[in-house]
Amino acid sequence: MVPPSDEVQEGGTKVLDFSFSPAQEDYRCAVRQLALTELLPRYQSGDANQAYPADQVRRVLAFSREFWAERGEEPNLVSVGITAEEVARGDFNAVLTALGPTYTRLLLKEAAPTLLDRWLPGLTSGDQIIGLCLTEPGAGSDMGAMAAAAVRNGDSYVINGIKNSVSYLNADVFYVFARTDPEASGWRGISAFLIPREAPGMSFEEVEDLGCRAVPRGTLTLEDVEVPSEWMVGAPGQAFAMISHFFDINRAIIGLTCIGAAMQSLDETIEYTKNRIVFSAPLASNQAVSFGLAEDVTHLELAGLMCYKVLWMRQNQIPCQDYGAMVKWYAPKMAVEAVHRCLRLHGHYGYSTELPHQQRLRDIIGWQIGDGSEEIMKMLIARSRFGRATFDGNVETGRRQS
Ligand SMILES: Cc1cc2nc3c(=O)[nH]c(=O)nc-3n(C[C@H](O)[C@H](O)[C@H](O)COP(=O)(O)OP(=O)(O)OC[C@H]3O[C@@H](n4cnc5c(N)ncnc54)[C@H](O)[C@@H]3O)c2cc1C
Repeated sequence: MVPPSDEVQEGGTKVLDFSFSPAQEDYRCAVRQLALTELLPRYQSGDANQAYPADQVRRVLAFSREFWAERGEEPNLVSVGITAEEVARGDFNAVLTALGPTYTRLLLKEAAPTLLDRWLPGLTSGDQIIGLCLTEPGAGSDMGAMAAAAVRNGDSYVINGIKNSVSYLNADVFYVFARTDPEASGWRGISAFLIPREAPGMSFEEVEDLGCRAVPRGTLTLEDVEVPSEWMVGAPGQAFAMISHFFDINRAIIGLTCIGAAMQSLDETIEYTKNRIVFSAPLASNQAVSFGLAEDVTHLELAGLMCYKVLWMRQNQIPCQDYGAMVKWYAPKMAVEAVHRCLRLHGHYGYSTELPHQQRLRDIIGWQIGDGSEEIMKMLIARSRFGRATFDGNVETGRRQS
């Protein structure tokens, strides 16, 4: 599914190759098997009990580590995408923390070796969790309005601010973004820090969410939190550009997560409608039913191709911000529509909490907003196609210049 491959025909013309490598194909089958047998049976209880799937995450990470170690390979970004899509078939909420070292290293790309030594082992074994802290009461889509401040005090920084939409509020370490240059505005002058949960001055308050209920989300308040300057990730004032590069990847990962969950609902619904007899015939024998599902499969396959293309582009250092934005609005939207249809085709059974479609729907809706909403993604795409100047003066986003 990866267009185009590195394969070069005689004469030097690149050919399209939509296949995974043999190892990736084996990996995909094996992770799906694991997801369906070990994760799916526990997916709904995680939601009902609001229990973070720690064991499931560790299991996926250990499996993945062993699989690639046996082959003497590091999983590339496309392989990380496979993990996201297949794990989401079993448990949507086990995906983001189960993506392994390739993904986590990119999240912390500019972290100093001492910080990586401290945090990577726990984060990539599943024993520790990281929470990303960008959003504030006055800065969501417009991240350039960030008010959290980190003030230099000798060899340390003192941080004050409110981050009010932190997924993984149960994290062991928080990746906190704050303004270190009070003179700078917009996305300039923002720096990032890795701060352990137990740092004095941090307090936590959970919110009740519609979906993703196995992952606590809420507010982290920082009051005079003093951190050594070595805990800063990357260069001072450059954190916004740094995290923006990661967003391109994360948007494809979120897209594949939504697609995996929706594909699982589709598989279950195809099976159900083939067996459900209504008006003396299988439900699926009505084209009104099968054509709708056929459309959903088409949309999700297309969205999946785009997501893998984004990962492939990043793997090959090809700029892909606009493509990342495309998949971030398109894939969750198509997934929501597909799962909603699946729910309806199960009739009253679909509406009950006994079946997983309602949970997948609630979970996916969260990622229509998280990591950038549909409107903001379209803004990025429009800018890339119309040119930034077209919009200067009438839009304000985190990517503004001043
Ligand atoms: C499930 C979930 C998980 C999240 N996890 C995290 C996390 O781990 N860390 C973190 O920092 N944040 C997280 N967030 C927060 C998320 O990134 C923000 O909610 C998002 O960026 C939007 O910001 P906002 O909610 O303040 O909405 P606002 O910025 O207030 O926007 C509200 C609405 O207006 C629209 N809008 C805004 N500006 C424009 C415009 N110029 N033109 C047209 N429409 C516009 C938006 O698209 C949106 O629909 C999460 C959110 C969710 C739902």
